[in-house]
Amino acid sequence: MKRPRPATLPSVTMEMPTRCGKIYVTVAVDANGLPFETFVRFGKAGHCGAAIFDATTKLLSCALRSGMDPREAVKALGGIGCHCGKDSCMSAVSMVLREVLELPKSCKHALRSNRQAL
Ligand SMILES: [Zn+2]
Repeated sequence: MKRPRPATLPSVTMEMPTRCGKIYVTVAVDANGLPFETFVRFGKAGHCGAAIFDATTKLLSCALRSGMDPREAVKALGGIGCHCGKDSCMSAVSMVLREVLELPKSCKHALRSNRQAL
């Protein structure tokens, strides 16, 4: 069962330099500070198929909202290469998810109280 999306969610956006160019990965977190949904924006349109990324991150968001363990997503996307080689745009998404999972509890608390202040 997919959890309903609250009207507001705190999120982290990281600029990730990859072999495929610069991408911006956004991970929104739930009340427990765990990844809830993801978005990717390319610095330049068209790199490695923005449509593929749209599809991947939509499915990933759906999976996360349906109870997928975010660590499984980190594993699944990590190390995926593209025509530019390893350290691709796709593995950058995995890295951002992992960083969000490793955020210290204090940061997650700050994100949460941020949300409550909205
Ligand atoms: Zn790529």
